[in-house]
Amino acid sequence: MTTIQRVKDDSLQQALDYVNTVFKTVEERNPGEVEFHQATKHIFTALVPVFAKHPKYMKNGILERISEPERLLTFRVPWLDDSGNVQVNRGFRVQFNSSIGPYKGGTRFHPTVNASIIKFLGFEQIFKNALTGQPIGGGKGGADFNPKGKSNNEIMRFCQSYMTELSNYIGPNVDIPAGDIGVGAREIGYMFGQYKRMRGSYEPGVLTGKDVRFGGSLVRPEATGYGLIYFVDDMMQDHGLSFNNSKVIVSGAGNVAIYAMEKAMELGAKVVACSDSTGYIHDEKGVNLETIKRLKLEEDGVISAYLAEHPHASFHENGDDIWTIPCDIALPCATQNEIDADIARVLIKNGVKVVAEGSNMPSNQEAIDLFNESHILFGPAKAANAGGVAVSALEMAQNSMKLSWSFEKVDAKLHEIMLNIYRNSISAAEEYGYPGNLDVGANIAGFLKVGDAMIREGVV
Ligand code: NDP
Repeated sequence: MTTIQRVKDDSLQQALDYVNTVFKTVEERNPGEVEFHQATKHIFTALVPVFAKHPKYMKNGILERISEPERLLTFRVPWLDDSGNVQVNRGFRVQFNSSIGPYKGGTRFHPTVNASIIKFLGFEQIFKNALTGQPIGGGKGGADFNPKGKSNNEIMRFCQSYMTELSNYIGPNVDIPAGDIGVGAREIGYMFGQYKRMRGSYEPGVLTGKDVRFGGSLVRPEATGYGLIYFVDDMMQDHGLSFNNSKVIVSGAGNVAIYAMEKAMELGAKVVACSDSTGYIHDEKGVNLETIKRLKLEEDGVISAYLAEHPHASFHENGDDIWTIPCDIALPCATQNEIDADIARVLIKNGVKVVAEGSNMPSNQEAIDLFNESHILFGPAKAANAGGVAVSALEMAQNSMKLSWSFEKVDAKLHEIMLNIYRNSISAAEEYGYPGNLDVGANIAGFLKVGDAMIREGVV
């Protein structure tokens, strides 16, 4: 627990004891859930100075309550494949915290999905959603379903079966799922269709990330990637840096990665590498985004196919090695635990100036500590990738008003929200004794809003 060693007094010791006690309970109560432990430990650590300054959170048992989901649903998702065989997957939805609004968070379809992954994502989402300034609580869902290699009809049948059960537990004022890894506009469309059929009423506010023809918001597809770049740009401007003429590496080639690359390029950056789950491509001339978009968004292809049109580029199977390419700005945008201490050391040695997280929890604690010690500008996921859920909240607002805002209007709101997240994180870090530490600042700023709401709402 690195934050503790910096100051020693009684109130800090009490806060540290409190955090350690609650964390021990979390470990015992959720055995083997390593990702969930990792996320809770990280956030608990950042909150020690808050508990030292304001014992009311300890008295009200906020940490004990906030780390236990209000509800965790697991359910069977049976479906028929194209050969008529019965397949069974496990569906999840964690409704983690509803103190500032209905549960809100994405849906991940990936074979690695389990309770630990869904709970770490849902726990992070509580604080991220609070940071956006929008009235949304924390939730997350998904299934251990692998969409790779499935036909369109199989995807549709799976989504319908998943929603048939989930529809019992969600609603525009209850819980509003969205997309995440393996879930894009197509899957949201199938789930929305099934929800509508089950309910017999048109409630567009039940899901976000919808197609614009039935209640989706402009900018939602771009929002996480664009928001990440707006956040990084604001952070860099504060330090006299800019994207212009910078060299950027982005991991992933999905929704977040693609729109992060697009906006970074628009601001004058050269993106020299990106990846998918099969490996990475390195194109020193600058990645051709049109090719990547076609391959990954339209053709469901593998990234090595890039070489057919750009033979001067190279393909490498070991995705971790993407971080050995020297760059100014590193943007992990694929999945959790992409960057450990060894990778962080390589990035630092090669002169990286900025690391900002598009994916959720891509850097482990040791890597984050190394970035902070080396004075690398570090944008934590909770703040830097909050643009997606922020625009989801704007989609909900448009749905409830039966309005559609222009691209420019939503984009301007997104930019304003990202700037506010940056400023609020900076000032919380300053106030609690960690100037410039956006990671600690974002956790504290998100927590204060939720913690105060929980106290006012009583022990529920
Ligand atoms: P997508 O499914 O659109 O893209 C994920 C990308 O990462 C793909 O290129 C995929 O490769 C690659 N990938 C996935 N798992 C692995 C792995 N284990 N190893 C290497 N590469 C991998 O997902 P998103 O872009 O939506 O999400 C990416 C990250 O951003 C996730 O952490 C998600 O939680 C986070 N996020 C997403 C938001 C959103 O609005 N979509 C909002 C906030 C955070 P392949 O194509 O081969 O599968």
